[in-house]
Amino acid sequence: MEIIKVVPRGYCQGVVRAIQIARKTMNTDTKRPVWMLGMIVHNRHVVEALQELGIRCLESKGKTRLELLDEIDQGTVIFTAHGVSDAVYEKAKAKGLAIVDATCPDVRKTHDLIRSHVKHGDVLYIGKRNHPEAEGAVGISDRVHLISDETDLEGLGDLENVLITNQTTLSIIDTQDLIQACRTRFPDARPQPEICNATTMRQKAVMNLRDTDLLIVVGDPHSNNSNQLKEIGKTAGIRSALLVEDAENLKESDIRGFERIAVTSGSSTPNTLTDGVIRTLEIYRDTGNFRPVPLPDSII
Ligand code: SF4
Repeated sequence: MEIIKVVPRGYCQGVVRAIQIARKTMNTDTKRPVWMLGMIVHNRHVVEALQELGIRCLESKGKTRLELLDEIDQGTVIFTAHGVSDAVYEKAKAKGLAIVDATCPDVRKTHDLIRSHVKHGDVLYIGKRNHPEAEGAVGISDRVHLISDETDLEGLGDLENVLITNQTTLSIIDTQDLIQACRTRFPDARPQPEICNATTMRQKAVMNLRDTDLLIVVGDPHSNNSNQLKEIGKTAGIRSALLVEDAENLKESDIRGFERIAVTSGSSTPNTLTDGVIRTLEIYRDTGNFRPVPLPDSII
């Protein structure tokens, strides 16, 4: 069995920065309790490690960031790497919460682009419905229209001076298809793709894999960029692709019979988890024994 360690993989700068900001907040003299407004990055292990430091996580399925704020009245709130709308910022301020903003600079750049364009035109924002990054972007103005699939274009009336942009962690392939659909509906629309560099490089590395039987993506099921890596693997001609959270979630039946196995990870996945999966494969290759490597004590 051959194991291919895909490069680049794992943490991006935005995720490293968000984790550092959260840690620093706990180490400074700030208003307590300290809350993250949703998962700081989309990885359960990272969130749990920060909870062990004393940071509480506000997360409730189906609730928007704006609604989650109803659950707290004091302390410090950390905005996650996915960014928030102006309404969330204003509501936190009005409640007297101390605000720490861990929005990724790449997401902020897209927000600035949208904020500037809505002064004189409409924006078609390609993104995932109910994803916090899309919530933050669409919340900037009524002139931002969420396009999750082609059917979202059907209900739109006449729009002016249309800009097409997108969530930073989408698939390069799917986004091109949706940009094309937007341009068919609005021929004068100007596309400005905003998939971030970290996402682009990780996806291209998967697209460039050759003669690979199996792609293992280490990542959280909530992580959009991890899911996209798996989908890209399928379209890149790899026989099979799967997403696993960590080595303990890998089964022997997942890897049995595959000769060339590539391993990558989403940009919110700690390297310790990816290393555990790689080590598990190496032990299997070298001894024939399948023994998932236990999770390390310190994950982030
Ligand atoms: S994946 Fe891209 S947008 Fe998201 S945190 Fe990382 S660098 Fe920022």
